[in-house]
Amino acid sequence: MSQTAKTFFDEELSDLAQDGLKREMRRLSGRQGREIVVDGRKVLNFCSNDYLGLACDARLGQAAAEAIRNEGFGAGASRLVCGNMSSHQALEAKIAAFKGAESSLVFSTGYMANVGIIPSIFGREDIIFSDRLNHASIIDGIQLSQAKCRRYRHRDMESLEEMLKSSGPFRKRGIITDSVFSMDGDIAPLDKIVALAEQYDCLVMIDEAHALGVMGESGKGLAEYFGVETEIDIQMGTLSKAAGSFGAYCCGSNGLIAFLVNKARSFIYTTGMPPSVAAASLKAIEIIEKEPERRNRLWQNTRYVHHALKQSGFDTRESQTPIIPILVGEPDAAAAFSRNLLNQGILIAAIRPPTVPPNTARLRLTVTAAHTQADLDSLLEQLQRIGKQLCLI
Ligand SMILES: *Cc1c(COP(=O)(O)O)cnc(C)c1O
Repeated sequence: MSQTAKTFFDEELSDLAQDGLKREMRRLSGRQGREIVVDGRKVLNFCSNDYLGLACDARLGQAAAEAIRNEGFGAGASRLVCGNMSSHQALEAKIAAFKGAESSLVFSTGYMANVGIIPSIFGREDIIFSDRLNHASIIDGIQLSQAKCRRYRHRDMESLEEMLKSSGPFRKRGIITDSVFSMDGDIAPLDKIVALAEQYDCLVMIDEAHALGVMGESGKGLAEYFGVETEIDIQMGTLSKAAGSFGAYCCGSNGLIAFLVNKARSFIYTTGMPPSVAAASLKAIEIIEKEPERRNRLWQNTRYVHHALKQSGFDTRESQTPIIPILVGEPDAAAAFSRNLLNQGILIAAIRPPTVPPNTARLRLTVTAAHTQADLDSLLEQLQRIGKQLCLI
């Protein structure tokens, strides 16, 4: 390596370390679940987005194995060349039927979906109104699109309307929001957003990554929860969280989907996802449909933890979902909290800037359907004990 490169990387990394912002990966062994083995030690897992406990459900593995037998492993080419296999088509039909949409299209990941969908629909002559706390993949998609972007205050409809009123003429206007915000666990006011969109003639796009399988009577997402499915033009979501699988989808009108097949570069210029992954995702959606008891259990656990944390005096912001932030403030203090918990056998990640705004470093815990009552009680006991030591409560 050149001396310049070496000096550059070393200096950047030591700056990060000094600010308490250096990131490192944990080493897991074995399976993903309520308990996992980290660095050789068994711990309770409160970090996963596997909300319904499907990531290790044997039925997903069986569906994948069957697809491997029938269709092989790799798709061999992009979907538009010769990689559009039966498992992809079946998954897309299933997603459209489940979501009550005309059509759907699968992307390899949620990140790729957002950086593909947004620039295909919006360009230089358009304007996008984006919640300040939208996911990084939405921010990157907007940047790639070169559309003008105005970021409204988080979930603040007055701030959004102000911007809608004051923005000049544009070819197209769009409002883009996470459904459930990934670091705060609060929800977008979709009822108000669709009303403003109608009044000010905007397209609406939502990212249901943390909402699919979690929100709404039948787990279709936040649009179902608010009863606004038919008023949202572009519904994107991922198969990597509550579905326990991998990949993402966009659903909407036949026109939207045919357009994306022709225009979304992250769909066109990439190999189709392995058919086994599509088959496992399809199985996951069947389970989400047929086993509402998983979602019920998830919400029972969620309500229990929310209530206990509030009683103890923790600042959990406006969380209304299984994603629960515990505000700490300084990155070092958040890291210390997380380390102390790990010593007690509880894994909760500290989330630091730039993933969250400055001075809002936090623990971000996620509750799942797989956690037992005993798991939740030991979580709460340790949070209270260590939270007191760190003077957070
Ligand atoms: C996780 C997440 C993504 C990215 O999805 P992947 O499938 O993991 O790439 C996109 N948007 C939001 C809101 C997310 O939480």
